[in-house]
Amino acid sequence: MTDVLRQQLIDTALAMNTSGLNQGTSGNLSARCEDGFLITPSGMDYAGLSTNDIVWMDYEGNTQGVRKPSSEWRFHAAIYQHRAEANAVLHAHPVNSSTLACLNKGIPAFHYMVAIAGGKDIRCADYATFGTPELSAFVIKALQDRKACLMAHHGLTCFEKDLPRALALAIEVEHLATVYSRILAIGEADVLTDDEMKKVLNKFSSYGLQDG
Ligand SMILES: [Zn+2]
Repeated sequence: MTDVLRQQLIDTALAMNTSGLNQGTSGNLSARCEDGFLITPSGMDYAGLSTNDIVWMDYEGNTQGVRKPSSEWRFHAAIYQHRAEANAVLHAHPVNSSTLACLNKGIPAFHYMVAIAGGKDIRCADYATFGTPELSAFVIKALQDRKACLMAHHGLTCFEKDLPRALALAIEVEHLATVYSRILAIGEADVLTDDEMKKVLNKFSSYGLQDG
C-alpha cells in the first residue's frame, strides 16, 4: 500500500516541477501514512526518483530508507501532529510567493479566492533558520485556521487531505501571489471586507470549492 503512496508522491513531485512551483531541488513533499509519513529525500532531482528513494519517518525524526529525508522535515512532522485533517504537505520556493515572503508580506483579501486557504487572508510566517524547531512553531502559528501560508524570506507551505489537493492549493496560492505582486507594483490593493469574506468562506464550506 505504501508503494502506491510512494509513487503518488513522486508523481505529485514531478507535477510540482511542470507546474513551475519548484526551483531546482528546493521543494519538498510528504504524505501521511501509518505511524508516520513519507517524504521526498534531501537534495535529489525529482526527475530521477524511484519509490526506494522516498523516506519513511516518524514524528521524532527516526527514518527508514536509503536516503536522507528533506532537511525541512520538521515542519512537515509538526503539521501532521497539529492538524489531524492534514494528509499531505507541500513546500516550495515559487517565485511570486517567495517575492511576497521576502517582503514579509502575507496575502490579504484582494481577491475572493484567498478564502481557498481557509480564512480571510494568507499569513506570512515569521522567519527562522530552515530545518529548525523555531521555524516549525512559526509555520504552525501562521497556519492557524488555514491550510496555506507564506514563510518570511523563504517560500510557501500548504497542506490538504491528499496529494492532488495539496498540489492544486499550492498552484492557486502561487497564482494569488502573482496577481498580488503585480497589484503592488502598480498601486495599492483594494481589499474585500471581512463581512464579504465571511460570505465567501460560507459558500466554500457549503458548496465545495469546485463550485466557487
Ligand atoms: Zn524551503
